[in-house]
Amino acid sequence: MRRTCHGKTEWVDIKWKGGVLAHPVQQDGSSCGIIVIMMARAVMKALPAAPVIRFGTSKKEMTNERKTLALQILKASVFDLASKCAMCSMGKPGSGSGPPMTDWIQCDTCQRWFHEQCLGMDTADLEQAREHSWNCCLCT
Ligand SMILES: [Zn+2]
Ligand SMILES: [Zn+2]
Repeated sequence: MRRTCHGKTEWVDIKWKGGVLAHPVQQDGSSCGIIVIMMARAVMKALPAAPVIRFGTSKKEMTNERKTLALQILKASVFDLASKCAMCSMGKPGSGSGPPMTDWIQCDTCQRWFHEQCLGMDTADLEQAREHSWNCCLCT
């Protein structure tokens, strides 16, 4: 494909040579995902050189890596909780996106906002939610 589209041969004509990289070994039955991500990160950082892959794989270290990775992903997210519906991710009513003729309700627990129309609640439940406290489907 690359050769056909760009006339380049640097990838298709590589003479691949098999090899084994030294790497940490999984110690439990559930950390393969995070270990693969950490190994891929090391390979990408070192490219084109062979990476030195060294990290701890104890239960505590894997837990910390998961938390670090989850935080990185969350911080990279551009989702704006204050002005987007948690159900459809569109903007507040009247913002030009999302349902134009609906009210807006906030969860008393997680503070997420929702278009009332997106929740599909009946009128009685909506009245109850407006007058008293309300918890979204993620918090109940
Ligand atoms: Zn919505
Ligand atoms: Zn909630």
